[in-house]
Amino acid sequence: MKIAVLPGDGIGPEIVAQAVKVLNALNLDISMTEAPIGGAGYEASGDPLPDATLKLAKESDAVLLGAVGDWKYDKLERHLRPERGLLRIRKELNLFANLRPALLYPELASASTLKPEVVSGLDIMIVRELTGDIYFGQPRGISKLENGEREGVNTMRYNESEIRRIGRVAFDIAMKRNKKVCSVDKANVLEATELWRQVMIELSAEYPDVELSHMYVDNAAMQLIRAPKQFDVMVTGNIFGDILSDEASMLTGSIGMLPSASLDENNKGMYEPSHGSAPDIAGKDIANPLATILSVAMMLRYTVNDEANAQRVENAVKNALAQGYRTADIWTEGSNKVGCNAMGDAVVAAL
Ligand code: NAD
Repeated sequence: MKIAVLPGDGIGPEIVAQAVKVLNALNLDISMTEAPIGGAGYEASGDPLPDATLKLAKESDAVLLGAVGDWKYDKLERHLRPERGLLRIRKELNLFANLRPALLYPELASASTLKPEVVSGLDIMIVRELTGDIYFGQPRGISKLENGEREGVNTMRYNESEIRRIGRVAFDIAMKRNKKVCSVDKANVLEATELWRQVMIELSAEYPDVELSHMYVDNAAMQLIRAPKQFDVMVTGNIFGDILSDEASMLTGSIGMLPSASLDENNKGMYEPSHGSAPDIAGKDIANPLATILSVAMMLRYTVNDEANAQRVENAVKNALAQGYRTADIWTEGSNKVGCNAMGDAVVAAL
C-alpha cells in the first residue's frame, strides 16, 4: 500500500502526525510519502494543489489529509485559495462518495449539547454526493443585468448515473448495518431532487432487504436534532449533505471526533477529519487528533480492506477515552486533560 500524506494547514500537521504515529504502530506493509496542499501548497509552489502533490495522490492507494485553509489566504484570487486545492483533488480523483459517520462514544454523552438520552447510542452514517450539485453546476457566476444590477447564479444539477452510483454506495453500506436508508431531498420544489427521489426508488428494487424512506431536507434538519437515533444511513446531495453532516457532527459533542472518507468507484479514497484547519488553535498542541486517527480506521476498512485493524484502531480510541483522556474540546470536569500529542500517545499505548 502507498499512502500520500498531505498535512495541509493550521492544525493539519499536528493531527496528521498523530494519525501517522498510529499507522506506524500497526506495523503494516505501508509506505507513506508527504506532500503539501492548500496554503502549504501555495507557499511551496504558488498552487494550492501542486502538480507533484496531485501526481503523488494519483499514484497512491489512499490519501491521508489533515485540513486546509487559513484566514491569511482570504485575499488571494479565488483559484489560489487553499479550499480550491481541496475541491480540485476531490474532483481529480473522482471521489464522489463522502462517508461521514456520526457516532457517539458513551464516554462523551455529556459533551453533546443535547440531552444524553437523545444522543446516547447514536450511530448514523451520512453518505454525501461530493462531485456534483450546485457546487459544480454550470452556469455559475456573478454578472450584470441590463438594468445595471448584479446577479449571482449557481445551478443545481444531477444526472441519473450520478444519483445511481451514490445511491448504490448508501444501499451497500446499509446492508452491512441496520438496513435502513433515508434519502434526503427537496423533491417538492426542486426538479433536480425530484429526479433524485425517482432514481433512489428505482434502485431500491435491487435491495429488497433495505428499507428506503424519503425526507425533505428541512424536516431532516429538524429530525436530526429532535430524534437522531431514528436514522441509520442517510444519503443526500452535495449541498444538503454539507450542511446536515456538520449538524450531525454536533450531536456527538465535538467536530474533533468525526472522521470522513471520500471514495471513488474502486474504493480508492481520501481520508480526513470532518473539521477544518482551526487556525485559532493551530500550533498550540491542543487540537483533538481523534477524528484524524478514526479516519485512519476508515482507510483500513474501505481501502485496505482490513476490518480487523480498523476495529483495533477504533477500540484503541474507545480505550483512551475510557481511561479518561480528553483534549480541551471534549474535556469535562473530572477527566484528564491532555494535548494533541499526548492523546496520540494514549491511543498508541491502547493499541
Ligand atoms: P474549523 O472546523 O476549522 O473550526 C471550527 C471550530 O472548531 C474552531 O473553533 C476550531 O478551533 C474548532 N475545531 C476544529 N477542529 C478541531 C479539533 N480537531 N480539535 C479541537 N477543536 C477543533 O472551521 P472554520 O473555523 O470555519 O474554518 C477554518 C479554516 O478551515 C477556513 O480557512 C476554512 O476554509 C477551512 N476549512 C477547511 C476544511 C477542510 O480542510 N476540509 C473544512 C472546513 C473549513
